[in-house]
Amino acid sequence: MTLRDLSADASLCSLNTATVREQWDLRQMVDGCVRHGIGGISPWRDKVQAAGVDEAARMIADTDLAVTGLCRGGMFPAADAAGRAAALDDNRRAVDEAVAIGAQCLVLVVGGIPEGTRDLVGARAQVEDGIGALLEYSRPAGMPLAIEPLHPMYAADRACVNTMAQANDICDRLGDDGLGIALDVYHVWWDPDLPAEIARAGRKRILAFHVCDWLVPTTDLLLDRGMPGDGVIDIPAIREQVEAVGYAGHCEVEILSTRWWHEDPDDVLATVVERHKTVV
Ligand code: ZN
Repeated sequence: MTLRDLSADASLCSLNTATVREQWDLRQMVDGCVRHGIGGISPWRDKVQAAGVDEAARMIADTDLAVTGLCRGGMFPAADAAGRAAALDDNRRAVDEAVAIGAQCLVLVVGGIPEGTRDLVGARAQVEDGIGALLEYSRPAGMPLAIEPLHPMYAADRACVNTMAQANDICDRLGDDGLGIALDVYHVWWDPDLPAEIARAGRKRILAFHVCDWLVPTTDLLLDRGMPGDGVIDIPAIREQVEAVGYAGHCEVEILSTRWWHEDPDDVLATVVERHKTVV
């Protein structure tokens, strides 16, 4: 049975909590996933911390939900050594939280250019140093780190790793043990090298598969992501490519959208399930 055959079953759909973050707390999100037959959840740290890490772990463990990731670690670059050390400390706490809730990986949004500089090259070096340092903590903890390349429009403020090729290069240099990639179609759909870089990543490196859609026009750089099917990304084509290298995990629906944050969250989840069946 291929993933496509399974797509009629929402058990391989996962809810990234950003999708309903303005409407619900973690308790409501967990209950909502169960109610809608969604098989996985990927919480953001603010929701886990608001619930309390131990309580969050308990409420998820009481269900059959897979925890397809914890969002997010990263943000490694800083203007000085103290800032970089503080970022690394926070990332170690993120690893602990990911372990506590049984996450399959800690997603890394790696960070952009340190404030007050124009040093993109240096920022990218700081990112790699930061991931390398974090691996010394995450590997013994058994928590895989998933580098999420972000669309180049975020290179300054969110992530200076912008392509699958960059992420693959980092994995080549730091080693695949406990390190891989979170592929989010929103960030990489435009890349002519995407098929080749998915093949290069292979099953061992693709730790998470995030979906939403690119709207035309996009009216906000961060908060105007589309429900799958409402935009221009050929999501099934990308999904076929990750299936072809053996990815058999969840499709994580992650929609940061002021439009969907104004909807009834149960309607949002029902739409997520419907779109997962029909256009993912
Ligand atoms: Zn994502």
